[in-house]
Amino acid sequence: MDLSVVVPCFNEERGLQELRDELNAVLPALVGRFEVVLVDDGSTDGTLDEARRLSSLDPRYRYLSLSRNFGKEAAMLAGIREATGDRVLIMDADLQHPAWLIGDMLRLLDVGYDQVVARRDRHGEPRVRSLLSKLYYVGVNKLADVPLVDGVGDFRVLSRRAVDALLALPETNRFSKGLFAWVGFPTATVPYRNVTRKYDQSCFNFGKLVNYGIDGVVSFNSKPLRAAVYVGGAATLLAFVYAVYVIICALVGHPGVPGYATLIVGITGFGGMQLLLLGVVGEYVGRIYLESKNRPSYFVKESGGSAAPPAQDAA
Ligand code: UDP
Ligand code: MG
Repeated sequence: MDLSVVVPCFNEERGLQELRDELNAVLPALVGRFEVVLVDDGSTDGTLDEARRLSSLDPRYRYLSLSRNFGKEAAMLAGIREATGDRVLIMDADLQHPAWLIGDMLRLLDVGYDQVVARRDRHGEPRVRSLLSKLYYVGVNKLADVPLVDGVGDFRVLSRRAVDALLALPETNRFSKGLFAWVGFPTATVPYRNVTRKYDQSCFNFGKLVNYGIDGVVSFNSKPLRAAVYVGGAATLLAFVYAVYVIICALVGHPGVPGYATLIVGITGFGGMQLLLLGVVGEYVGRIYLESKNRPSYFVKESGGSAAPPAQDAA
């Protein structure tokens, strides 16, 4: 198998046929044998039926259906595990990842890169969102041990050894964007112009994006914990200095107005700071909790496709 295409799908029934048309228009000219693995991530619309239909029409297509919606990370992992190709391409089902870019990406891989990632600009995106994203990436790259690049998503093609490296990482709580960067290997980037979603809304709302952002910071380093120590230390020191100052004032004979304001400022200030620092610690503890349960990232409810190639990749 020359190429496996992994497509996580959550409520994408309307786009799948078109995706197939695009892929079938592009891929045969680029690679010898290819397979497309559609991963239905517990969709509530007809995505599964559509995946079944496409798989029965075309022997190069097969599908997995997860037992519920486990999120895109889990769906990608399921698909990548299932992929048998020497090269694995990951792309979204919503037609935002242009199929015509695949040729360029594969050529770079042939030149000797192990990962080729497509990088989109933020054309047509709400201003606020691109601004927040920009700020986020500036911040996260100050903290993170692996560089995260703005605009780089999960549209990428990996060599077999990069895929195997990725699959060797045991964590269940996955932040792929960081994991891809973490496994290393020579990586090239191909820029492209952002495509806005054709059918309905993004599956990610603002809240999900914020959570994703926190994952990005916390999954890859423990610097926020260190920062918490510094901030906490500095705050305590300041409080101590201030206490000394108040005592000296009192000794010198200027007790001042009984300090209602100071009291309130102190309580809220330090209360807030403590909550914040507790939150940071909690983020890590929560992650340790999740990992320690060691649960699988997903369950497969159903899989199929006429030509599930070699026997070793049974779901
Ligand atoms: N997706 C998924 N599970 C989810 C959410 C999304 O498999 O819980 C898939 C979705 O079907 C799409 C891809 O992940 O193929 C990216 O989702 P979306 O287009 O909503 O994200 P965005 O383009 O806004 O990053
Ligand atoms: Mg999308």
